[in-house]
Amino acid sequence: MQDIIRLLPDSLANQIAAGEVVQRPASVVKELLENAIDAKSTKITVVVQDAGKTLIQVVDNGIGMSETDARLCFERHATSKIRETQDLFQIRTMGFRGEALASIAAVAKVELKTKRESDDLGTHICIEGSQFKFQEEIASSTGTVMTVKSLFFNVPARRNFLKSNPVEMRHILDEFHRVALANPKIEFSLFNNDLEIYHLPAGKLSQRIVGIFGKNYQKQIVPCAEESPFLKISGYIGKPQNAKKTRGEQFLFVNYRFVKHGYLHHAIVQAFEDLIAKEAHPFYVLFLEIDPKHIDINVHPKKTEIKFDDERTVYSIIHAAVKKALSIHHFTPSLDFDTNANFQTFSQKDFTPSFPKNTSPREKSNLVNWQNLYEGLEKRAITDEHFQLGIEETKLEQESTIIQSRANQLSQESNSEKVATERPVFQIQQEFLVAPMASGLLLIHQQAAHERILYDRFQKYHETQNPPSQQLLFPVELSLNPADFQLFSDIQSELQALGFLFEVLEGHKIRFNGVPTIPMKGSEKEWLEQLLEQFKNHQDALKVNKQDTVLKMFAKRASLKKGTTLNPTEMNLLIDQLFASSNPNFAPDGTTILVQLGAEELRNWFA
Ligand code: ADP
Ligand code: MG
Repeated sequence: MQDIIRLLPDSLANQIAAGEVVQRPASVVKELLENAIDAKSTKITVVVQDAGKTLIQVVDNGIGMSETDARLCFERHATSKIRETQDLFQIRTMGFRGEALASIAAVAKVELKTKRESDDLGTHICIEGSQFKFQEEIASSTGTVMTVKSLFFNVPARRNFLKSNPVEMRHILDEFHRVALANPKIEFSLFNNDLEIYHLPAGKLSQRIVGIFGKNYQKQIVPCAEESPFLKISGYIGKPQNAKKTRGEQFLFVNYRFVKHGYLHHAIVQAFEDLIAKEAHPFYVLFLEIDPKHIDINVHPKKTEIKFDDERTVYSIIHAAVKKALSIHHFTPSLDFDTNANFQTFSQKDFTPSFPKNTSPREKSNLVNWQNLYEGLEKRAITDEHFQLGIEETKLEQESTIIQSRANQLSQESNSEKVATERPVFQIQQEFLVAPMASGLLLIHQQAAHERILYDRFQKYHETQNPPSQQLLFPVELSLNPADFQLFSDIQSELQALGFLFEVLEGHKIRFNGVPTIPMKGSEKEWLEQLLEQFKNHQDALKVNKQDTVLKMFAKRASLKKGTTLNPTEMNLLIDQLFASSNPNFAPDGTTILVQLGAEELRNWFA
């Protein structure tokens, strides 16, 4: 029998290996950035086009390469960073495997221009799908320009697998943020389709954080530092009141390498325990410095995972450091409303009263009393708003005759008459409505119903381009970071069509002068921030259908959340409006709004 095993040709072997290293444009950005950093650059520029799908270029002013090295760097396992096994245990550079460039060159068209300080002329190399094209001498400045074009041009399956540009760009931004945070002393710029997204001058870590996430972070972070012979911790944590509902702004670096570490993340979040809501995520940018002999970064080729030889000690040191930082800055616990049945009406975010400075969880009972005084007032205010919502809005746009007559009826009727005309409805768990029907029983999901009503209404505003707005007495200004600002610019005409009035100020600032006529719980600023946050989390959907997604998100944001107490009038209005809507059965996102139980079905239960 013939032998069947063959050695794969290099080009094919490289393509397969590339799968590990190069998953998407962002992986290329990461590898090229890390090489530029290892080359001791002080200024690095990243240029991408079409979210890196057509072009990724990294320009650095680092040590450059010789003519031979420029050729060699595209070979697999070609590295200048380790020489022997022993070196593996004291790695101080970002790269060390020598496979990144070989992998990238296997699946793209790569051009390298590089020159060392000591050389008069630089070298220019072209390589496409592992195929060497040419090398020539060129005049260039010291440093390296690595240009990667047409990523996955020879692996269509992978190219087709790439996500939309906004999604791929998000991944690139994530990598860029990590590298830029870890190296505040290096100047960075990032361009996307010729638009400068970031220019971050060299400076301190706090300046870098502000440069990336926006000016308002200046007041939202506090330093966190701890030093022991075993471990050094430095960086910043976000103030508890600025913790967000979504993840994404948690950065842990070990020896300046970004890592994901569930156990250590837990150590940090635990330290915030009573200070933030259970679902909230505090901001942090923390650096651990530890002798490389205590860690093993070789566990995964993507190198964001890491192992420590004594994880428990690391855990307790970090936990203590974060706790200390929080206590130095006098953050006092706020109440956890979820555990207090009386307060189901408000979520923590919607209603955060300020307590005297020195209150601790042990004084809770006291606070509850204090809050009970407050509760009635707040509830009153909010239900009044609901009431208004139902009536004023319907008058305003003359939706359907049913609602209109209902609304007129309501505004004219005296209290006693009101009760007489209302059908009996009950609210269960402040989440569901139950009403008897002639044929049986009707169960309604309160929030889903309201989402449907609002969605229909907003759609009408959108069509007529004449939405009602209410002027804000005190305009609200939001400072956005560049990425959020881009997102905002993308959807601004949609927001205007809903009744938002705003102007764009210098420095990625937006001033809201008016908002749609819907009740907003909490401060307008918080409300708007959370709305933007919501859009940020649905960038995929926005790409597919911008207008519809904005309407859906907005309807969701504005809808009556579970835990909102409704009075009988409000419940009746909700039901009337639901049945006048375009689809009383399903919410805009497809979830079920109502269930009908026929008398027959009820009878069967008791058979
Ligand atoms: P690694 O970074 O793991 O060593 P790479 O494939 O990323 O492997 O790079 C191979 C080698 O090419 C590096 O070890 C380095 O010597 C050289 N190199 C890559 N990029 C640069 C750069 N921007 N400046 C100088 N040298 C570079
Ligand atoms: Mg590398």
